[in-house]
Amino acid sequence: MQTIIDDIAAQMALVPNKGTVASYIPQLASVNPDQFAISIALTNGEVYHAGCAHTLFSIQSVSKVFTLTLALGKLGERVWQRVGREPSGDPFNSIVQLEHEHGKPRNPFINAGAIAIADAIMQGHQPKEALAEIIQFVRFLANDDSIAIDEKVARSELETGDRNASLAHFMASFGHFKNPVDAVLGTYFHHCSIAMNTQQLATAGLFLANNGINPHTGYAVVSPNRAKRINSLMLMCGHYDGSGEFAFRVGLPGKSGVGGGILVIAPGKASIAVWSPGLDAIGNSKLGTHALEILAQKTGWSIFGE
Ligand code: GLU
Repeated sequence: MQTIIDDIAAQMALVPNKGTVASYIPQLASVNPDQFAISIALTNGEVYHAGCAHTLFSIQSVSKVFTLTLALGKLGERVWQRVGREPSGDPFNSIVQLEHEHGKPRNPFINAGAIAIADAIMQGHQPKEALAEIIQFVRFLANDDSIAIDEKVARSELETGDRNASLAHFMASFGHFKNPVDAVLGTYFHHCSIAMNTQQLATAGLFLANNGINPHTGYAVVSPNRAKRINSLMLMCGHYDGSGEFAFRVGLPGKSGVGGGILVIAPGKASIAVWSPGLDAIGNSKLGTHALEILAQKTGWSIFGE
């Protein structure tokens, strides 16, 4: 495994076009695109790293896997009254689909869906309390109490968040929200601003590769059935309108973020985190996807066969 990922990291260093970093906030625009990291946490407890696996980055939409898990824990099946379970085929921040579907987002991983999930998690709590719960949950999953929110990123998200605010107000206009829109947006922007490295992220995802149990800590996070369902949503919806392409090339459930991180689950085998900040045209990590495609080929881990 170490040889495979060392080779992948070496190959990635030679790729001339590393994609374009997100430019909508200064904290992402200023990240050096010439960085690559991969961590693989196997279900047998072994962990492997290559590249800058200890460099913190903004996990952005990867956080939506954790908030969905938390919401399912709190609301159970009622979560599906708030969001659907279908791929969107539209960009991550699309507003047209919401109108057609009467303010119910297609899935929990597009922006509108994740904002609705933030509202569900809050359940009348102040944003601070909801956020404390989210960050505690992520720390618990990663078995690492040092994980924190990057407040500067959160502030920038808020300042540039007109589109997300539009999505939220639009949903609220259907009477779907239980909390004030600004409070929900505050929760959403802050959980997108959690900073992690690939080592922490791979560990945090491990319960999804191991029937809901984190093998490092022995804690059962979700039932095997729920882990399976979260994985299926990641496969279908984890890369926005690039989800089909990702399934075609990599063949594993994954969730990307505009910070360049991707969390990928090889069920029964491993949780994999990659990070490279340069994005493709859809907003998914260019080198990250490329690296995962090679990894899936070399390991035969694609859920669709070798
Ligand atoms: N905070 C970002 C937004 O809502 C997340 C987008 C992403 O990672 O895809 O615009």
